[in-house]
Amino acid sequence: MAKNPVCVPKELPRSKWVAAAQMAVKLNPANRPHATVAAHAMAIGTGAPRERLALVVGKRWPASGVRLTVGFLDDAPSDLRARILLHMNAWAKSANVLFVETGTDPDVRIARVDSPPDDGGYWSYVGTDIRHIGKSKQTMNLEGFTMKTPESEYRRVVRHETGHTLGFPHEHMRRQLVNRIDRAKAIKYFAKSDGWSARQVSDQVLTPLEESTILGTTRADQRSIMCYDLPGQITKDGKPIIGGVDITPQDYRFAASIYPRPAAPAR
Ligand SMILES: [Zn+2]
Repeated sequence: MAKNPVCVPKELPRSKWVAAAQMAVKLNPANRPHATVAAHAMAIGTGAPRERLALVVGKRWPASGVRLTVGFLDDAPSDLRARILLHMNAWAKSANVLFVETGTDPDVRIARVDSPPDDGGYWSYVGTDIRHIGKSKQTMNLEGFTMKTPESEYRRVVRHETGHTLGFPHEHMRRQLVNRIDRAKAIKYFAKSDGWSARQVSDQVLTPLEESTILGTTRADQRSIMCYDLPGQITKDGKPIIGGVDITPQDYRFAASIYPRPAAPAR
């Protein structure tokens, strides 16, 4: 793999899109897309209407808070498991979120495999989609993570992938940032660095999220932990999109707005 494999959040197989979207809306009604976004999704694209609609449904957990158990699909030693959990729980600093390790039937399953193109690299399924993955499969992959991996990578990668598990999409997919990318240069660049097809580049970095599917922040934040670092080689102005290296104050505020902590009891 490249030194910095690019994260591609995993998508469920098409056969599960509609059921997963229905469950997401049931768990958190705020996952229902805004009417204009739904109408837009129905007007464009191909496939069954219910599938088109499913693609713009959010994947957030209930606003009452996130309690997820975590397990490891390999023989990760206890110090490594504890270190990964610690970084996953960094989100708890502002949000009502808790990840707890378990050996029994974990919600979040972590593997560290290197088997490109499908399973290697860094990735997670997004939010409530993890409920639709077979129990023997990982929901998050942290290729090659060991106790020797630098702390900065734990911050940059584990916290980012945990953001996906919490239902957060890629910040660089926002229109303000996508508009800065030069299409032809991006296709050439990712073909070389990640072996992506033009279609993959289009899906992963050139198609903006519908603005209304994004809650919280109103301005794109290129320092967000949910933003890739994208090189100046592929932007129209030649300046890089810096990308996040840790959860920013804006990310913390965003997470707290999605999963607010219960108010402290009055004295
Ligand atoms: Zn990602």
